[in-house]
Amino acid sequence: MVSRIIPVDAFDLVVFGGTGDLARRKILPALFRRYCAGQMPEGAQVIGAARSEMNDAEFRAFVTEAVEEFNGNFQYSDEDLQGFLSILFYVTLDALGDGGWSELATKMQADRVRVFYFSVGPSLFGPLAERLHTYGMADMNTRIVVEKPFGRDLETSKALNRSLADHFDEHQIYRIDHYLGKETVQNLMAIRFGNMLFEPLWNSQYVDHIQITVSETVGVQGRGDYYDRAGAMRDMVQNHLMQLLCLIAMEPPSRFEPDAVRDEKLKVIRALDPVDPDNIVRGQYSAEGDRAGYLADVGDPHSTTESFIALKLHLSNWRWAGTPFYLRTGKRMRARSSEIAVVFKETPHSIFDEEAGRHRNILTIRLQPNEGIDLDVTIKEPGPGGMRLVDVPLDMTFTEALGPEAEYVPDAYERLIMDVVRGNQTLFMRGDEVEAAWAWTDPIIAGWEERRDKPLPYDTGSSGPVDALALMHRDGRRWREVRS
Ligand code: NAP
Repeated sequence: MVSRIIPVDAFDLVVFGGTGDLARRKILPALFRRYCAGQMPEGAQVIGAARSEMNDAEFRAFVTEAVEEFNGNFQYSDEDLQGFLSILFYVTLDALGDGGWSELATKMQADRVRVFYFSVGPSLFGPLAERLHTYGMADMNTRIVVEKPFGRDLETSKALNRSLADHFDEHQIYRIDHYLGKETVQNLMAIRFGNMLFEPLWNSQYVDHIQITVSETVGVQGRGDYYDRAGAMRDMVQNHLMQLLCLIAMEPPSRFEPDAVRDEKLKVIRALDPVDPDNIVRGQYSAEGDRAGYLADVGDPHSTTESFIALKLHLSNWRWAGTPFYLRTGKRMRARSSEIAVVFKETPHSIFDEEAGRHRNILTIRLQPNEGIDLDVTIKEPGPGGMRLVDVPLDMTFTEALGPEAEYVPDAYERLIMDVVRGNQTLFMRGDEVEAAWAWTDPIIAGWEERRDKPLPYDTGSSGPVDALALMHRDGRRWREVRS
């Protein structure tokens, strides 16, 4: 397999919040890896901007540390690093004031793509957009990238959308959800729409149910303040899990183009039924040994925010009526794992005797760890002794199937940032998608507040509260075991 680098023209990329956690851990190391891959053309500039007083040399030292700390096993030479540092600059600037903005404007080169990455809290999105406009940096070549959380309900997300729309067209706004940049998530579309095999079966006639699990082993990790105001529903379900659900459930778009794909995703969100409270289980992790529980982690003994949620959802449309979607996500669980499992129905009739048992095909899309796709198929157990059936996986772990070239899979931020530079919005959320997702989420959260709903405790290292297991057991189904 030959990896293909699509060349791009020289561009200017400004990271507002260039000294922050996200920039240090994800954005700047991702840009460095793209530099090493040869995707930063001659003349490209990366400019960090924040209030901290720093000069270019100090910013380069900051980026050097970030690159050394957050690059995993990625191999690079000192020449690579020095080359990357030479395209880095820094401007001290306040999103809420006027200092630094003229200096930033003078650094912009004419007639080239400008990307402004808003790696700052959402309250600064509007002021940044306004100042880009005021200081003459917002033209048709300008693209802005905004991070989650994109609002905390429908009203705030509408207000955010409006504050950006005052200065930029929708085609200039890239709402990033890094789940959509994962290789396997894009492969989901390749599997569905590049093969004849799956799509005819991809409906309620053949699919018994679909499970989406995103489990983490870590707790709130010093982000208690933010997390306790969000919870698993706002932090994970409204965005990441919803996006995965959309890609699984959407109708085939007419083309692999931004609006064609996003139109279909929007229809999925709009087809979601309101959720019966009996079909939701919320949980909070308990203390274990010397590890504090959720309440101590967030410093509020009365918090009713959930660190775990499981839901059973239904879509009202022809394709999916009658097929439930089970979603769950949580912190401090048994394993770090993200996967989607499409569980097909049993064959309508078994020609084998009872001992052979009844089996089903399961298509598993693994997002982490070990990105890849498995298809469980039923075969005869080898050897004499009659017809005994056994399920074996047709394993498509990318590194094994595609050889050593696939061993380095660019991470989601690398891919998505380069998509912004290329002007491809396919893997970014449109404003109306985000608003539709909040319109579905809001009544669920309002219901908890009205009923003063309290999350159930669950053990660290478990699969969440036992009620989450019951959510499936009562339908005669079970969650797939979470394994790392
Ligand atoms: P952070 O560590 O607090 O960094 C915030 C950055 O914004 C800093 O560089 C800060 O630098 C700068 N800043 C703050 N006020 C400013 C102002 N008035 N003018 C200019 N710059 C200002 O936050 P973060 O974790 O990097 O998160 C950034 C955004 O990404 C947030 O919206 C967050 O929700 C989102 N996000 C973060 C993660 C993550 O893993 N960290 C994941 C997903 C989404 P100065 O103080 O020097 O100005």
